[in-house]
Parts: sequence; structure tokens; C-alpha cells
Amino acid sequence: MLGDDTTEQRLRLLQAEFTQFERRGPGDGRTATRTTSPAPLNLGVLDRIHAAVHEIEEHTRAADWTRPAGPVPADATRVYDWARQHTAHLDPERQQARETLICRQGLEHAIAMGDTTVVRKHPCPGCGCWGLMWRPAVQRAACPSRYCTDDDGLSRSWPLATLAHHHIARQLGLKTSAT
Ligand SMILES: [Zn+2]
Repeated sequence: MLGDDTTEQRLRLLQAEFTQFERRGPGDGRTATRTTSPAPLNLGVLDRIHAAVHEIEEHTRAADWTRPAGPVPADATRVYDWARQHTAHLDPERQQARETLICRQGLEHAIAMGDTTVVRKHPCPGCGCWGLMWRPAVQRAACPSRYCTDDDGLSRSWPLATLAHHHIARQLGLKTSAT
């Protein structure tokens, strides 16, 4: 179904973690525990949230410039609802593009929090098998099947945008092909 709020929940978690970090502040002796966390949180998290909101805002405004959407909500986690409200009247392709973007950001938020297992919930867009593995160095999800390789014999891997595209297309009952 469209309108899934997983991305919003993940952004809220990300934001909460960051706020905690801010309140505690540097040099109180507890910051050291952070280094053992899979994704050390820092000011980059705030940048990430701003970038995510900005991307949604730009996408929403560009989708229909004939109807100015007004300011984005002050609460970053409301931006997805805001985007849906202002694009609900548009054609299915544009709504699909919006949901694909939201889905991709949801994956990004989870990975930013250290949960790279989210890619395993998506089948490989190339061969359909399960067990995709996140490769941080290239920021792509790699297929575990040794039969799923590119022309050079390397494991095929996919950007999060491709996983999101296929996920939303499946939800909409559309056929997809890995390209
Ligand atoms: Zn594969």
C-alpha cells in the first residue's frame, strides 16, 4: 500500500538519537561509549536530516509548480506527509516517483542508524534471490548468488534507489525489469 510511514518513523528515531547526543554534549565522559556503536552519531546526522528534507521539498515543488506548496513543516518528520498532501492529485507516475524517493530515504535512515539488514528485506533486482549484503565502501547492496554477476564476473550490486524502485513497483503491482 502507498503511504507507508516506515520512513517517517525511522527519521524520528534518527532525530531522537541526534537530540540526545546534543543534550549530552561533548566531554562528559559518556561519549566514549558511542565509538562502539555501529554508526557513530555526530553533526553529520543533522546534515543528513536537512539534506533529506531538502530533497523531498525540491521533489515536491518540482512535481507541480502550478500549485505552490507553502513552507515545509518545522518538524522534519512531517515532511513526508506534507509531500503526499501536495502531490496526491498528480498522476500515478508522479506518485510512484514520490513513494520511491520516500522508500529510498527510509533505507538510508536505517543504514545511517547502523541497521544495514534492511537491504535483506528486498530481493535482488537481478535474479530475485534473497540475502543482499550492504557494501558500505560502494554504498550498494550486493547479491550473494555466485551466479548473479556482471560481464566482468563480479557480484552484481544495486544502489538503494533501485531497491526502492522495485519495492514500490511491486506494491503497485507493476512489472519491473532490472536495468
Ligand atoms: Zn542477484
